Amino acid sequence: MTHAVVLGGGMAGMLAAAALAEHVDRVTVVESDRFPDAPLPRKGLPQGHHFHMFMGGGVDALDELLPGTSELLYAAGAHRRRMGDEFLGVSMHGWSRPYDGRAYVLAASRHLLDHVVRGRVLSHPAIDVVEGTKAIGLVGDAARVTGVRLESRADQDADRAERTLAADLVVDATGRGSRAPVWLEALGLPKVAEDLQDAGFAYAGRTYEAPAALADGFPAILVQADSGTGRPGRGAGLLPNEDGKWIVSMIGTKGAQPPTDEEGYLAFARSLQDPLVAELMAAARPLTEIRAYRGLVNRQRHFEKLPVPDGFLVVGDAATILNPNYATGMSMAAFQALALRAELVKRGLADGFTRRVQTAVAKSVVGSWQAATFNDSLFPGAESTMKVRGGKGQQRFIARWNRVSAENPAVARATFEVASFLAPRRSMMTLPLLFTVLRGPRHPEMALADAIERFPAFREPLSRIGSVIPPG
Ligand SMILES: Cc1cc2nc3c(=O)[nH]c(=O)nc-3n(C[C@H](O)[C@H](O)[C@H](O)COP(=O)(O)OP(=O)(O)OC[C@H]3O[C@@H](n4cnc5c(N)ncnc54)[C@H](O)[C@@H]3O)c2cc1C
Repeated sequence: MTHAVVLGGGMAGMLAAAALAEHVDRVTVVESDRFPDAPLPRKGLPQGHHFHMFMGGGVDALDELLPGTSELLYAAGAHRRRMGDEFLGVSMHGWSRPYDGRAYVLAASRHLLDHVVRGRVLSHPAIDVVEGTKAIGLVGDAARVTGVRLESRADQDADRAERTLAADLVVDATGRGSRAPVWLEALGLPKVAEDLQDAGFAYAGRTYEAPAALADGFPAILVQADSGTGRPGRGAGLLPNEDGKWIVSMIGTKGAQPPTDEEGYLAFARSLQDPLVAELMAAARPLTEIRAYRGLVNRQRHFEKLPVPDGFLVVGDAATILNPNYATGMSMAAFQALALRAELVKRGLADGFTRRVQTAVAKSVVGSWQAATFNDSLFPGAESTMKVRGGKGQQRFIARWNRVSAENPAVARATFEVASFLAPRRSMMTLPLLFTVLRGPRHPEMALADAIERFPAFREPLSRIGSVIPPG
């Protein structure tokens, strides 16, 4: 009988369990936290206080693993927003013009996302979950991991009991706090190589009740934290969540990290390049405290370069953390679970299995890693332990691309299909697109009043709320 143990019941752990369940006899998910019975906050999911976008390509991968999951999410109140015409986006290049296209995001509270995915995964008869139990080490040697050491807590304080659980495969999905490097060193493996980049990204998030006139069909709003300006990045996101709620996050880099006191929070929102989000916040009713999340780095641990023992695999944030400003982490978890499933289909748990999957896990993040680390390197005070690819020429080209993308439908369509993982990166490198970008912008930057023209239902209520919006 084959047994796989997945450490961590977050998005990456649950999706790995789903991929494994059809190919081993039994899967045990070990989670240090306890899961609520409803879409509610929990200690092990601190990012749940901040806005989440699940990119379209990642949602499609989620449905491939667990058919019908996005339908369940929409039925529970999640929103689908097309990036071309259901999104209001502003950067230093002005508001983006609408375009037709298939790029989309799924917007929902993180609590709902995890609740629905967890419900689907744990309903599988081959999957069990052990809650309130922490993984504290591996069993085995440098050639093969044969199990995991666990510490369970009868309650929050004392009463700790240690035990081991035997497994043919142990998957570490314990997130950014993963101890895998230490565990592997204890088995005699060398130190895992790590790349780290820190532009000082921080979020401050809050949930609101939307004003009644704006509760239905409201667009997603993104104020980009612009890089390469010589000033710290300042941005924000406002996304519709379930039950007429909005989730808002202020985003800042080193030198402009958003505060969490009432006055400072609103002042930060007002200091953005466009005050629309501040106006909307002022018109909505706060439902939660303002919660900070700091230390939002890019960090990649190169387990694929180690002689990883058979029977051990690292996925999700435990392997690579991507700055959430680019909203890629959950999609990576879904792609990595698909890669795991593909290898199980091809060769099963044969020797060398974990090395091949670990390589596929590393490959899945290459494009997102390069894009995130290049952009983040352009913020003042960004620190990096590795050489970031790309120089001044690339920076100028990308700035021009973004300026043209804000006004040209074909360039925008290609850009956002890639950003939402619905098309490969190479689809942006066509002669007509390159020519359009090199030719440069043809129109002046777009003002907010023109940007909201495409949301006739909101024009009047928006103009009532925002002094910034001229009446129609
Ligand atoms: C502020 C913020 C905003 C984000 N926004 C987005 C977004 O918009 N879009 C997007 O795609 N991604 C976003 N992400 C990234 C996304 O949350 C993660 O990449 C994704 O959830 C994968 O995480 P994970 O499952 O690897 O780790 P986690 O979500 O951290 O889950 C790890 C789990 O392991 C458990 N655990 C920890 N240690 C142990 C242990 N020793 N033993 C047993 N269990 C343990 C934890 O309790 C937790 O349940 C955001 C992240 C942050 C921080």
